[in-house]
Amino acid sequence: MGKGFYDVPIAVNEPILDYAPGSPEREEVLKTYKEMYNGSLEVPLYIDGKEITTGDTRTISPPHDHQHSVGFYHKATKAHIEEAIASSLKAREKWAALPWENRAAIFLRAAELIAGPYRARMNAATMLGQSKTVHQAEIDSACEIIDFLRFNVQFMTEIYSDQPESTSGAWNRIEYRPIEGFVYAITPFNFTAIAGNLPSCVALMGNVVVWKPSHSQMYSAKILLDVFREAGVPDGVINMVMGDSAMITDTLLASPDFSGVHFTGSTGVFQDIWKMIGNNIHNYKTYPRIVGETGGKDFIVAHKSSDPKQVATAISRGAFEYQGQKCSAASRCYISRNIWNEVKQYVIDDLNSFKMGSPENMENFVSAVIHERSFDKLASYIDEAKASPNAEIVVGGTYDKSVGYFIAPTVIETTDPNYPTMCIELFGPVVTIFVFEDDAWEETLHLVDSTSEYALTGAVFSEDRYALDAAVKILENAAGNFYINDKPTGAVVGQQPFGGARASGTNDKAGSKLNLYRWVSPRMVKETFVSPTDYRYPFLGE
Ligand code: NAD
Repeated sequence: MGKGFYDVPIAVNEPILDYAPGSPEREEVLKTYKEMYNGSLEVPLYIDGKEITTGDTRTISPPHDHQHSVGFYHKATKAHIEEAIASSLKAREKWAALPWENRAAIFLRAAELIAGPYRARMNAATMLGQSKTVHQAEIDSACEIIDFLRFNVQFMTEIYSDQPESTSGAWNRIEYRPIEGFVYAITPFNFTAIAGNLPSCVALMGNVVVWKPSHSQMYSAKILLDVFREAGVPDGVINMVMGDSAMITDTLLASPDFSGVHFTGSTGVFQDIWKMIGNNIHNYKTYPRIVGETGGKDFIVAHKSSDPKQVATAISRGAFEYQGQKCSAASRCYISRNIWNEVKQYVIDDLNSFKMGSPENMENFVSAVIHERSFDKLASYIDEAKASPNAEIVVGGTYDKSVGYFIAPTVIETTDPNYPTMCIELFGPVVTIFVFEDDAWEETLHLVDSTSEYALTGAVFSEDRYALDAAVKILENAAGNFYINDKPTGAVVGQQPFGGARASGTNDKAGSKLNLYRWVSPRMVKETFVSPTDYRYPFLGE
């Protein structure tokens, strides 16, 4: 700290722009999208402040137009990863010692750059590279990352100001040191905001980072990196590497200076990383922090007293926005028989009115899924449902990958509550419905609780307070983010800290102080003003 106890600006959520026809933001984002679509972006590795090209490249294509190239990125060798470790450790010497207000200023500046001059680029990149509609891009690659950056700065100061009691004879101080070594940030394709938050919140707390973005998010990852650089993140503090994930992970986890992993992605990958850390535990200088937010099988349960139109809207939005590729997306629904026919008709009407295609056409509500692997997996589950005696396609069920990876939003109804698509995370625009008998409320809640290994998000609809109370109790451990009469998606930083337990992660709640605590290693300092000079206590007197 310099020469004052500085207040930081009070964090407020970034307002969402609406991109209505004729609005300046719509014009700007479409112009930027077109330029990006017709250009070719080169994405080098970024190590120690240097852009490194290797010649070993991979093409970047929009999922909704997969034969078209919009750029390429360079892949690292093992030597580059070792260089990234060395560069981060070198940067740590000055970064960890820099007074906090400098770190705060850098990341507050990053927030303002995204809110202003970079907003159209961030959003256009997310539309182009990840097939988000402009609204989905705006709430992710503009508002959510801006909120993460602003709120984390405020949370950091709240953590720092949490100090122990002192007496007149001794002053007790806690110093929230960064952890020793470097942190490995691994980010998923589906949220540009998460890609930005995982490395930046760790760096904000004074740590150094090696960041590996997803292959399927490279376009917007490059724009994030441009923002961090322009905001003033010093060389070596956030290094960006791409390439063979297994090689990168093996190399980083083999270093004795590896001190933590900040992961968001699928459960299997996280569990493998955890195991590898366990196998290497004797080599590390410090116990690594393991923070991971992983998969989900998020539910909606609708009681017989709930409003069918509200339930249908929660399904239409909660299961299909961004093609169901949100970790929080509803993918299994339990609907009371007395309202099902009405809910079903509303959902069919909604889905028949959805337009699907390129996000450049702003009439489209949905677009393509992220890659061919995901498309093929979803298509195979849809085919299985068509052939199964226990399942029926209510609406959707078609798919086409000739131009983009398009899967029609699909509703499956099953008579088997353990039908595979009620249990397995599909991560796409497919939702499965199980209809329960009107009076089987508590039994159904126990079924919801025990059907899946995950516990990320869930929603319950009811107008009956006793029914709601039963749901809150029985589903206590079924979701880290629990919604009453609302869809299970759309968590806002500073309002609904996000994360789940069981196989869904370590529940360290992105967008809250809890997460930032994982990236500090407190040092307790006791200073005694007048030290004793005689070992004898009064009780020793005769
Ligand atoms: P993914 O697991 O395929 O990839 C996540 C990251 O891990 C990517 O950067 C990928 O390249 C990397 N990776 C893959 N294999 C690796 C390895 N062996 N070592 C190190 N890194 C490796 O996930 P995805 O498809 O990008 O994202 C979708 C998944 O993420 C879903 O399961 C979803 O539920 C989950 N998700 C969870 C949250 C949450 O907050 N709980 C948020 C977003 C996404």
